[in-house]
Amino acid sequence: MRILVVEDEHKIARALKKALEQESYAVDLAYDGDEGHAMATTEPYDLVIIDRMLPGAYDGVAIVKAMRANKIHSPVLLLTALGSTQNKTEGLDSGADDYLVKPFALEELLARVRALLRRPAKTESTVLSAADLTLDTVTYEVRRAGKLIQLTSKEFALLEYLLRNQDRPIPKEVIISHVWDYDADILPNTVEVYIRYLRAKIDQPFPKSLIKTVRGFGYKLQAE
Ligand code: CA
Repeated sequence: MRILVVEDEHKIARALKKALEQESYAVDLAYDGDEGHAMATTEPYDLVIIDRMLPGAYDGVAIVKAMRANKIHSPVLLLTALGSTQNKTEGLDSGADDYLVKPFALEELLARVRALLRRPAKTESTVLSAADLTLDTVTYEVRRAGKLIQLTSKEFALLEYLLRNQDRPIPKEVIISHVWDYDADILPNTVEVYIRYLRAKIDQPFPKSLIKTVRGFGYKLQAE
């Protein structure tokens, strides 16, 4: 899942990127309102975290309004140092989905992110599955036929994306745009390479393959 963070305080922006990447999200940063507006309205993000007060022509609320006017419905979490009820109402009225007042604990932000991405909450099932393959979004355990499988962070992110979209063919470009960030070095065969790594771990040691190649298009994870 790919996330955009628009925050002019570089220290906070980098801390958020680091924390989100540890949860295996792909993260892009924008440091002012204009850059944030350009990225939020052109790149396909699964979630956008926007600071309210930003330098540039667009503040946080203006970016959310522009996204909604462009029919971009990715969930938006607004951050602000202003905590009054009026500001909160204005933020949510602009089309943001949630609102977090600074200073906040990183755990709180990650919990809101999980909720907005509808990652299963800790009290509910935390596990995505297909046939005898399971992926736990909280403990990061991946198992097939009960056997524990070690994945790298990127392999995990790719498998999570395929599992969330299972039974649907997904074009390679869509996979790239949701699993890799803007600065990643993407080669023409990057997706193929990572699919090969994943297959070697989750498919080849087992009788049935779950990852199917859709010729000239992309890939599909299917239990049948
Ligand atoms: Ca700010």
